[in-house]
Amino acid sequence: MVNIPKGTKDVLPSESYKWHYLENTAREVARIFGVKEIRTPTFEHTELFLRGVGDTTDIVNKEMYTFEDKGKRSITLKPEGTAGVARAFIENGLISSAMPLKMYYITPVFRYERPQAGRLREHHQFGVEFYGSKSPDIDAEVILTAYTFLSKVGLKVALNINSMGCKECRAEYNKALKEFYKDKLDSMCPTCRERYEKNPLRIIDCKEDNCKKINENAPMITDYLCGECSEHFESLKKYLKIAGLEYTVNPRIVRGLDYYTKTVFEFVTTSLGSQGTVCGGGRYDNLVEQIGGSPVPGIGFGMGLERVLMLAETMGIEFPNNEKVEVYFASMGEKACDKAFELCYALRNKGVSAETDHIGRSFKSQFKYADKIGAKFVIALGDNEIDSGLCKVRDMASGVETELPLEKIVEFFIK
Ligand code: ATP
Ligand code: MG
Repeated sequence: MVNIPKGTKDVLPSESYKWHYLENTAREVARIFGVKEIRTPTFEHTELFLRGVGDTTDIVNKEMYTFEDKGKRSITLKPEGTAGVARAFIENGLISSAMPLKMYYITPVFRYERPQAGRLREHHQFGVEFYGSKSPDIDAEVILTAYTFLSKVGLKVALNINSMGCKECRAEYNKALKEFYKDKLDSMCPTCRERYEKNPLRIIDCKEDNCKKINENAPMITDYLCGECSEHFESLKKYLKIAGLEYTVNPRIVRGLDYYTKTVFEFVTTSLGSQGTVCGGGRYDNLVEQIGGSPVPGIGFGMGLERVLMLAETMGIEFPNNEKVEVYFASMGEKACDKAFELCYALRNKGVSAETDHIGRSFKSQFKYADKIGAKFVIALGDNEIDSGLCKVRDMASGVETELPLEKIVEFFIK
């Protein structure tokens, strides 16, 4: 027996309806917000993520599934959705489309992490990328797209926002951070000492206890925003207020990826322990240029669907199951079984889901089976029904029975 790889999950037939529900809800929200689907490959040249995600991030440093293919190319399984979309945008000349260009995806994502609840090596993300507008109202729209999805699913999550500024404010901020950490490095973790040299901003994200404590007194990016970035941030808050969306400014969110500029945000819950970030996103006005395209502003989010599902389950939310069978024929005797087979097919041809016995079970266990698969109606067919040409349609929820001639069955269900 070969087991499933660590950190991956099967979705079983009994629970796939939950995934369909999440995916359909995502597509519906995308439709309402005028967002079109984009599908990009599951793997890309490693170089794309080195340039696009950034080589000081955990993703690139520790988490990528990278291998050499038979043609000796370095290939990486998508560790996030944004870089692939940016590549597709450039490569397909989408710069000439009508702007803003609003795109979404539902994709598997691969990260070599230590598996635990809500932290997998393959997970799935619903994400959006809105290109072509610098205006803060589009930032608010991206946040509202995520929020609308989360509310439709029934989740209660808090919105945290921050601004990471632009290159100019960040340079000032990095200087201040270097100054602040200069005499504290000895008591910090080796990774942070490295971050100090390469990208001090990343220290803010450190999960080590000691570094976290030191970080409490670190300078805050919001005190270093230039005029333009600060105005942009204020304007975003105004639009969130217009939409009636509550938020908290959290200057400690710097997000895991190097490409963010200005707005960053997270939807978080305290019910999933340390895996409480359900959705993260932000603006990335330099990304497209950084991977070789003409400059175009963009903003997006990535939402972990396994975490959404976990949180929904913790909150006791039940997803509607629209995949239950409509009609089950319990049949006994050759003629009745043939009739059941015929009627099943006739109903299916009219778009009604129907099932019958294929195991030769007793009437009693056929009824049990019908119950198990959640059949809404059960029709028992035996010699009596064949002789009389009449049958009873039993509504399983109410127990009400309706008598019908056999030839009226199809009509009854397509009414
Ligand atoms: P975390 O801080 O939890 O590691 P992250 O900053 O790495 O999250 P992002 O890169 O922003 O996360 O990914 C967007 C979303 O994808 C996260 O908010 C989370 O819901 C989900 N996610 C990220 N990594 C995993 C994982 N290993 N397993 C399951 N979901 C994940
Ligand atoms: Mg992570």
